[in-house]
Amino acid sequence: MQILHPFVGSIQQYAEAISDPERYRPDHCPQCDAKQPLTGHGFYRRTLVDPGFEGVIRVRRYLCRLCKRTVSLLPEFALPWLRFSLTVISLFLVARLLQGLTLAAAALAASQTAMPYQRGQFWIRRFRRQAPALAVALAPLAARVTAPDFVARALAMLESVGWIAGHRFLLSELRAHLLGWPRFLVPHGRRTTLAPALPTT
Ligand SMILES: [Zn+2]
Repeated sequence: MQILHPFVGSIQQYAEAISDPERYRPDHCPQCDAKQPLTGHGFYRRTLVDPGFEGVIRVRRYLCRLCKRTVSLLPEFALPWLRFSLTVISLFLVARLLQGLTLAAAALAASQTAMPYQRGQFWIRRFRRQAPALAVALAPLAARVTAPDFVARALAMLESVGWIAGHRFLLSELRAHLLGWPRFLVPHGRRTTLAPALPTT
């Protein structure tokens, strides 16, 4: 499973910080009852696009000796299964859906100068679908907002709570994804829809 690594800093600083397996080693397994610290289990590599960065980052992986499952420490500026960082996607969505910019201008606002418009439409479609559930899920964190629809309400909540804080809450507390889990991850036990705030394994 993926858990979020609460990291603040540049991608270069992140790369340095995770080279030490001791530093962020989870002291217990989030997937079973093992109370002993997990064992360093190398890295996996994934691509990431952030304003000013496009390349491969390493993600630290740990192994539970009891249940033999791995836990990876995804940096919280990244979203599971999506190549683009939370910063890029949030800048785009705010520019397009909150400020009403064109697709091209919204891509520019997210520092994506040559982005195919279909990519932005894909993010918008997924966010629209998730918005009603997000507005409910984020309610404990955000002040009450009045907005004409769920999309505007979810955006206003994420803007006030902070996108990273919102993403952290959704993923760690609800195993929920800001843009929804894709179908291909469903067999791995992820919920496709948001449910009440119960910690899951
Ligand atoms: Zn375990």
